[in-house]
Amino acid sequence: MGTHGTAGADPIEPPRSGPFPYPTIGHEPEIEAIAEKLRGKGLRPFPLPIAIDRHKGGACVRCATCDGFACKLGAKNDAEMRLVRPALATGQVDLVLDTKVLRLITDASGKRITGVEIEQDGGTKVIEGDLFISSAGAINSSVLLLRSKNDTHPGGIGNNTSDLLGRNYMAHNNTAMMAIHPFRKNKVTFQKSMAINDFYLANHHRPYPLGNVQGLGKLQGGMLTANVKFIPEWAMDLFATRSVDWWIMSEDLPRRENRVTLDNDGTVRISYTPNNEKAHNELVKVWAKTMRSIGYPLIITQRMDITVSMHQCGTAVFGHDPATSVLDPFCKVWDVDNLYVVDASFLPSSTGFNPSLTIVAQGVRVAEHIARDVLKISAAA
Ligand code: SF4
Repeated sequence: MGTHGTAGADPIEPPRSGPFPYPTIGHEPEIEAIAEKLRGKGLRPFPLPIAIDRHKGGACVRCATCDGFACKLGAKNDAEMRLVRPALATGQVDLVLDTKVLRLITDASGKRITGVEIEQDGGTKVIEGDLFISSAGAINSSVLLLRSKNDTHPGGIGNNTSDLLGRNYMAHNNTAMMAIHPFRKNKVTFQKSMAINDFYLANHHRPYPLGNVQGLGKLQGGMLTANVKFIPEWAMDLFATRSVDWWIMSEDLPRRENRVTLDNDGTVRISYTPNNEKAHNELVKVWAKTMRSIGYPLIITQRMDITVSMHQCGTAVFGHDPATSVLDPFCKVWDVDNLYVVDASFLPSSTGFNPSLTIVAQGVRVAEHIARDVLKISAAA
């Protein structure tokens, strides 16, 4: 994915097989000054691993509208740029647009998927195949499998043994924070370059983890400000030019009751009650205190609710036991022989960090397994 970062800089980094493909993009002076102050407080800020094309010859110009926006220059290393477009360039992949996937169809035994029914040009038709992969995301993959219910899969495909399809929906506890110095402007352009994991693990002071703090793309009037209705826009603009902005993120825990369901008329419903809020609120307090201690007296926070639907995961958990998981360790649906779900659905926990690169890593692992063990494609081929 062309990720920039510094191996070993994250104090809780797990073992890794090698360095990042590209070095860290570095902090701008405002952020480096904050990193220095945080180090002075005994914290260990590190360069946030980030997948943009900022290496020599890359198209990234380090602009102010990266976080949460598509890149006009095609320099953000997302699924389209790094995976879909290169796949299409091989000439061996067809991308079918303007099409809605309605349901998967099984044979009479219910053990094999034989086709996928689609809606296209005002009509429906079936595409047949030998092997099927759903990568529609944690909500829509489970919706597709639920909608594909039939006599042999009355609760949806993949739901016969575990009753876990659509359950354990998770999406992180998130808070955006503006730490404001009233008399000093923050001239940073690309602010999302630093992260702090010093509160990620439990320790002897606190027997439970809090989460991760990372730089947020620089807020401008009309972004977060649109959500804070009680403060006039001119005042928020004033704050935004003087703030350092943070994204504060804690795990959301898997709960059976937090789930995706389908109404009889096909309406998709998400039932969700946030949890692990004590730890998250504590992290917000700890970070506000830290910011005040390094010279940012004014703090504005905005808790994100389910309408900010990012980092969704967990609705078709993988595992070693069909009784307690929907997918096997290679993301094949236990109940059928030729269907895989390869997206964020497999995650059994919401992870303490942004999940995209973990999802990609699992995708690569599953692809290698399918090529080697299922399709029997030799390494040489
Ligand atoms: S949006 Fe801006 S910072 Fe992000 S990849 Fe594109 S050019 Fe780079």
